[in-house]
Amino acid sequence: MDIRTFRARTLNDALRQVRQQLGDDAKVLHTRIKNSGLVARVIWGQHVEVAATVGEKPSAPVSTEIEFDYRQQYRDQLTEMVDSPTDLDDLFTAHSAAREPSGLPEQLFQVFADLIEADVDESVARRIVSDLSTNDSGTRPHELLVDYLLDSVTTTGPLAVGRGRPRVAALVGPTGVGKTTTIAKLAANYRLRENRRVGLITVDTFRVAAVEQLRTYADIIDLPMEVVSTPTELCDAIESMQHLDLILMDTAGRSPRDVVRIHELRRMLEAAKADDVLLVLSTTASARSLGATCREFAPVGTTAVVLTKLDEAMSLGHLLGVLEESKLPICYLTNGQNVPDDIAVADGESFVRRMLGSSHNVATA
Ligand code: GDP
Repeated sequence: MDIRTFRARTLNDALRQVRQQLGDDAKVLHTRIKNSGLVARVIWGQHVEVAATVGEKPSAPVSTEIEFDYRQQYRDQLTEMVDSPTDLDDLFTAHSAAREPSGLPEQLFQVFADLIEADVDESVARRIVSDLSTNDSGTRPHELLVDYLLDSVTTTGPLAVGRGRPRVAALVGPTGVGKTTTIAKLAANYRLRENRRVGLITVDTFRVAAVEQLRTYADIIDLPMEVVSTPTELCDAIESMQHLDLILMDTAGRSPRDVVRIHELRRMLEAAKADDVLLVLSTTASARSLGATCREFAPVGTTAVVLTKLDEAMSLGHLLGVLEESKLPICYLTNGQNVPDDIAVADGESFVRRMLGSSHNVATA
């Protein structure tokens, strides 16, 4: 068995090296997160060590020393996940039925490695593994993980467009995330495929090009469109569209740090009595910036998210912590620039499957 050791600054980087050099079949034998101080990390940079192989894992410990080493590795990893050393010993004992040399089922560690590889934030991954380790139902860790993720990732289904009164849905979010394109996709699908009466309103008066972009779509799909800049104009525009089934509102991209504009947007949405305030988030953005965007837009009354640019996203795991923190369900996913095709109603199972990668089968209940 060819065992190789990889060192990197983060676990994610180390696992990426494992995959690049040993391929998709590589098995992680152990990881060690060195408790080096900040200075050492800055000087040497390498903080995480991963041992991996492409051969079969040994079914028994190679030596006592290695067994101790395995156990020590898990102990290092898990010490931060549980409250006290006693809990840690319980954890080792609780899993003694399906013992690996380490005393923990391999899959529980594998779950952690899979989450990190899927780009799930390390603290979120630790919390999940800690939660799963207390489950003694006998269910395989991988299935527990999938159930956990299906519970965490909630979806709304499509916009509930009825008849009799127009449903008002506003799309909000930073500039360039795909709001206008998503509105065009939704408008074309509801108008052309579902034969609904759709109107467009844009309050994006700061960017002339954005207004023209929406007008072009309105002309092609043959939809009424109004451009407004005050809450009063907005109310008038909505009044003039009372005979429609769906009103889609495009809003100016707001910098999340622009408190005044967020306040203006809130006044607009209150005047519109919007049923849905969909926060558009690009999946290519970092977890940190997505988290900040969710927090900054929360005061406008966001009800769900639209996740865009899945076709360009390297991974989706970074969204897990963002969705958990914001508690917003997912409404739509977009995966390309083509209007009207590159949009789908969000489905929790396929989203989780995509998040974990194709090796994970999400069984339908
Ligand atoms: P807005 O400023 O939020 O209204 O963003 P736009 O709708 O103008 O989109 C900004 C850019 O992102 C445009 O070039 C779009 O074609 C592109 N875009 C929108 N949605 C997607 C998507 O799902 N995938 C990709 N690759 N590009 C997209």
